[in-house]
Amino acid sequence: MEQSARPPATSRPAVLRLPDHGIPAARQSFLREHNLSLVLRHIIDAPKPISRAELAKATGLARATVSALVDLLIAGDLLVELDPIEAADRAGRPAVPLAPSGHGVVGLGLGIQVDHIGARVLDLAGNVIDERIVAGNFRASDPALVVARLAELADRLTMALIRSGTRVAGVCVSVPGSVQADGPLVRYAPNLDWHDVDLVGMVRAKADLGDIPIHVGNDTDLGARAEARARSRERATPRQDEQFLYVSCEIGVGGAIVVRGETTGSWSAELGHVVVDRAGPPCGCGARGCLEQYAGRDSMFAHAGLGLGSSMTDFRRAVDAGEPAAVQALSEAAEALGLAIASTLNLVNFDTVVLGGGYVELADLLVPTITRHIRRRTLASRWQTIVIEVGRAGAMAPLTGAALLVLDEVVANPAMLLAAG
Ligand SMILES: [Zn+2]
Repeated sequence: MEQSARPPATSRPAVLRLPDHGIPAARQSFLREHNLSLVLRHIIDAPKPISRAELAKATGLARATVSALVDLLIAGDLLVELDPIEAADRAGRPAVPLAPSGHGVVGLGLGIQVDHIGARVLDLAGNVIDERIVAGNFRASDPALVVARLAELADRLTMALIRSGTRVAGVCVSVPGSVQADGPLVRYAPNLDWHDVDLVGMVRAKADLGDIPIHVGNDTDLGARAEARARSRERATPRQDEQFLYVSCEIGVGGAIVVRGETTGSWSAELGHVVVDRAGPPCGCGARGCLEQYAGRDSMFAHAGLGLGSSMTDFRRAVDAGEPAAVQALSEAAEALGLAIASTLNLVNFDTVVLGGGYVELADLLVPTITRHIRRRTLASRWQTIVIEVGRAGAMAPLTGAALLVLDEVVANPAMLLAAG
């Protein structure tokens, strides 16, 4: 008898068997940890405080689930309830808006630059609640001496926080150099002249931080993180919508790419060492004609005849006064930045460039030249508008970004902090 390809209509439906990939089912506790993070992220990213009902709608979670998670976060001092808002129709229950707690947990950002060290404390809402900046000259410095001074700063701030009952969730140290991905090392910081320094180990040994997690990050990368947060806050849009090329001047020149509100590590952090003239002056990195030799702070000041102790305001004043050396230095910096940025935009097809750090003060002078180079050299500029914007993250953005990195880890895994008690 010929067999039918179809089973008889009376047979039971076949049991669908999925291939066994050896992936275990998600644990219930994992789901709860994930949802805790989801709820906290929504509250922190919301342009204005939102209620439990709004949270349930935004996350797709059941109202009871949201309420239980919110209660846990309030008990752990990560959230607070604000004063109730009466419902528009008198029959409705008043909504209780939720906001990140301003005193429960903070992130400590530490930073090393060639002319200062600093520390900034941010709460979960992103408010600066304390900071210290100490001027100095750390060019070609001894890491042990710099870390000793940084540790003093960290200890002073953390002692005050602990006394007030605030938890320090972690520490991140910003450095102007290449750092090991997820590791303790500063690989190379040209202006500090540091090579393979175990910065996390040294800070741990010198500062009284107990078992608080310590991270290390590139200054431009952290500055870009602060910028992404500042832009989304100012425009009341989700941070995930942020996509831009960040170009910043501290002493050197750094670049970072931000995709979906996140920096991508140190992929393009060394923009300062992109070659803009192969026959140009020698650079500290060993190559010639790097962007930093024209658009780095030290180079611009030297070309303008200003001393190393000068400020960007001094430089700007000299340019505005029409001092020929300063005007020439500014022009060369703008040309070099235009070349490097236009070339980078041919690699990353972004429509927004943000000038940060020391470039904020010079932005109106730099933008016309950079725009001219983009129009001439970036192919995508023929069919899309590319805008150059001024950074909004404020002074010493890398310190803000360092503290934010710590707080982002809290938001990614609040359960760990709650479990630690
Ligand atoms: Zn170089």
